[in-house]
Amino acid sequence: MLRNPKYVYGPNENYIPANLNLGDYLVQRYKKHGDKVALINAATEERITYKEMVQAAVNLAVSLVRLGVKKGDVVGVCTENRLENWSIVMAVASTGAIVTPISIGYVKDELKHILNISKPNYLFCSKQAYQIHEGVIKSLSFIKKIIFIDDDRRKGELCYKDLAIVSTGSLIKKNVNVEEFLAVEVKGQTDTAFIMYSSGTTGLPKGVMISHVNVIATCAVKDVCDPKLVVLNITPWYHAMGLMLMLVYMGHGTKTVFLPKFDINIYLQSIEKYKANQLILVPPVILALTKTDIKYDVSSVQVILSGAAVLQKDTIDAVKKKFPNLIDVYQGYGMTEATVMITLNSHVNGKQCKPGSVGKVVNNTVVKIVDIDTREPLGPNEKGELCFKSPMVMKGYVGKDRSADFDDEGFYKTGDIAYYDDEKYIYIVDRLKELVKYKGFQVPPAEIETVLMQHPGVRDVGVVGLPDENAGELPLAFVVPQTGANITEKEIQDFVAERLSNPKHLRGGVRFVKEIPKNPSGKILRKVLRQMLKE
Ligand code: AMP
Repeated sequence: MLRNPKYVYGPNENYIPANLNLGDYLVQRYKKHGDKVALINAATEERITYKEMVQAAVNLAVSLVRLGVKKGDVVGVCTENRLENWSIVMAVASTGAIVTPISIGYVKDELKHILNISKPNYLFCSKQAYQIHEGVIKSLSFIKKIIFIDDDRRKGELCYKDLAIVSTGSLIKKNVNVEEFLAVEVKGQTDTAFIMYSSGTTGLPKGVMISHVNVIATCAVKDVCDPKLVVLNITPWYHAMGLMLMLVYMGHGTKTVFLPKFDINIYLQSIEKYKANQLILVPPVILALTKTDIKYDVSSVQVILSGAAVLQKDTIDAVKKKFPNLIDVYQGYGMTEATVMITLNSHVNGKQCKPGSVGKVVNNTVVKIVDIDTREPLGPNEKGELCFKSPMVMKGYVGKDRSADFDDEGFYKTGDIAYYDDEKYIYIVDRLKELVKYKGFQVPPAEIETVLMQHPGVRDVGVVGLPDENAGELPLAFVVPQTGANITEKEIQDFVAERLSNPKHLRGGVRFVKEIPKNPSGKILRKVLRQMLKE
């Protein structure tokens, strides 16, 4: 019954009530911010206040229930970042149905793979997303209804406005009274609110089940933001970092400026125009900023929050020179399986940022570093696998037993190698898991390997990440050609590029080898492959 002196405990003064519906929780929190502007789309200059967002959410929730959406249904949301996103999330969660955010950037087989995991019955789709994915969407019989987010009423189809906004021609004739609104009863601790996608430590992308309480607990993480700061966020909202951080920030009533698509010029222009104080970015974009000749007034920027991949100390030093009033660069470490966050390097509430560290364990979370072989917990400055436990840790993967991913004490095994120093600051030093990260995007090697094994000239293949200053890592394939096959690097790269989305292209190149090193049970020895890269 005593704390383990070798574990690192975050503060836990926030009590999380168990039986809460996330949709209800968000409606209650966001409505307090009333007429404050919640979001501005910097590309179109459209904006929405908290009051409008909440009103649309409750209207939409009632419409969805009328439409037949019920607890346990799955509702896909496939769109570029846009204003309507958050009313959709709040509404779906309020009905007790599960939200599954879908990247617009997937190609055909990737989209089929993830949709076959979550099997959405309903799909919110932007015009742009539908143009790209119409073929796949129409081929899947479990999708019963598509709701178009754009305001173009196709014959016989529904659009967002019909269900969420009172206007002539819409199905919603009167605003739902927010004060009387009551979300569907859920078991917050065990009912799933989101299905996200991650390959975890091994294999193909899996469905990560995030419960209502997982997200409510995330919204209770302290020290993430200062509500007075204007935020400029360009991370995609289908990924844990973009999605969950937005839910957290809006809980505090921040004003967020966003872009549906990254363009460095519009980005810098937006900093000047909206006097953005806090930038939420991934390391490759921070690095790109250090190499850009900035011609706009960026003196408003006080803080940069980085996450999703390693941020080098040199990059922090270089970016500080580009923004005259930048106080610090915060760094978060987390993952989809943690809802979003495990540690945070920030100086909100008088804490210190340590460059190179991913900071301290966030509240309500406990981290242990274990020896990879013995699984014994290690002390300060000893490197091992980082494992964590918190009310934010996922329920598990869809259709997969929890036992392989959680240890006997219920800690999730992250597959990241880390240590903590004498002051309990955490440092991520390596990755034990297969995952490659290109510009913060997940690249599961197994996905590229599965594709390449379909090439008639390939006998065997192993994919690893080639370290790269700009992107973090570049996917690279070791290929064993079939006897007599005459294949080229370009042919292999093109084969992958035709079948997988942009981050998974073999930018690191192809190396032809005689065999792929494997252990006696046939598992690829990626450590040996990485060593071969160094040689
Ligand atoms: P994702 O689920 O896509 O967010 O990927 C999670 C993985 O990204 C982690 O397990 C780490 O390997 C890596 N990662 C996330 N944040 C950081 C960070 N601040 N420093 C180093 N690696 C990170």
